[in-house]
Amino acid sequence: MKLAATLEDVKAASSTCLRCSWCAYGPWPENLPLCPIYSRFPSFTFSGGGFLFLALALLEGKIEFSQSIADFAFSCSSCNACDTKCNVIHSHKSHVYILDAIRVMRREAVKRGFIPDGVARKIYDEVKKTGDYGRANGFKLPDKIRSDNANTVFFTECAHSKSRKGIAEATINLLEKIGSPVGQFAEKGCCGSTLYDFGFWDELEPLVKANWAKMKPMKGKKFVFFDPHCQEFIVKRYPEILPDFSPIKNQHFSQLLADAFKGGRLKSKNSGKIKVSYHDPCYLGRGLGIFDAPREVVGALKGVELVEMVRNRENSFCCGARTLGDYVPNLSEDTARERIKEFEVTGADLLITACPYCKDQFQRVMPAKDKTRVKDMTELVDERT
Ligand code: SF4
Ligand code: SF4
Repeated sequence: MKLAATLEDVKAASSTCLRCSWCAYGPWPENLPLCPIYSRFPSFTFSGGGFLFLALALLEGKIEFSQSIADFAFSCSSCNACDTKCNVIHSHKSHVYILDAIRVMRREAVKRGFIPDGVARKIYDEVKKTGDYGRANGFKLPDKIRSDNANTVFFTECAHSKSRKGIAEATINLLEKIGSPVGQFAEKGCCGSTLYDFGFWDELEPLVKANWAKMKPMKGKKFVFFDPHCQEFIVKRYPEILPDFSPIKNQHFSQLLADAFKGGRLKSKNSGKIKVSYHDPCYLGRGLGIFDAPREVVGALKGVELVEMVRNRENSFCCGARTLGDYVPNLSEDTARERIKEFEVTGADLLITACPYCKDQFQRVMPAKDKTRVKDMTELVDERT
């Protein structure tokens, strides 16, 4: 979506919605909800299609922008399930996605000063104060594997999640085991995905331009990401925002690990039998289409059995981490709890994911005694190689 977009730009596509609610739930015969808001209130209003009707009502002056509308728009977790299901909206000639319309709604809410309290307000205040949402994350590649001439560059910007420390340590250990030299991209600035999702677009353009100016000289190299949000935003949204963007070679760390196992550069040791269930993060799976690499990595670990949750791959259920509005009380935590219940049904010992936000979110709602049952895939692989 161009940053100059307004609700008018999503009007035509929104008006094509059939109100079929197909975007809200998964395949037959289970027909389980995929939209976390719809999971709480199974009615059309609380689905991707409902958001489109809300956009139309705002455009036609049937309702006015209010704090309540902002809280509702920020209650969408940006999980992308609705767009993966709906065949109608994006096929309209304007090629708008449902999530584009929701983001524009959040953008309009922010312009009018309707920011939900809590995390959204904290992000907004920080962005207003500093023009950025970035900070140093302490990720430092050891000298023995770091090489500024290497063709592979680790993108280590983002520092917003608590899980990052453990994931960074495991990543460094694994890179040392693999032994190939890598460079590091660490400019201590946000890639912009958080600002984009939540409608803080005034500050976004300069930040994205500055980031791209630093990346551009390295664009012949392969960028490796461990945060799917950064990867999806740079690969898919930078081209929409930056006229001079040209595609970059990119890989998620799970793909690099899968290649390392295949090439014999990483070997599993025998560490006992264990059952794990893999949670597809929304932006790695539906966002980037990376479903197989994490499963190949789990499959390469001796003694590890993968048991799938009912909702998996493109029909995965969100962890709820990016639900910032409180239109529906406790929606973020309840979404994670619903996913944990589904995990427990599998009988698996560990819940594995490949996004720092998912790990944080699941650990947040897990009982204290079970928090160590949630791990990033990087940590599991480090323990067993
Ligand atoms: S957004 Fe698409 S899937 Fe959802 S109700 Fe409208 S037409 Fe149906
Ligand atoms: S992006 Fe996810 S939470 Fe938001 S409306 Fe679509 S399915 Fe629901």
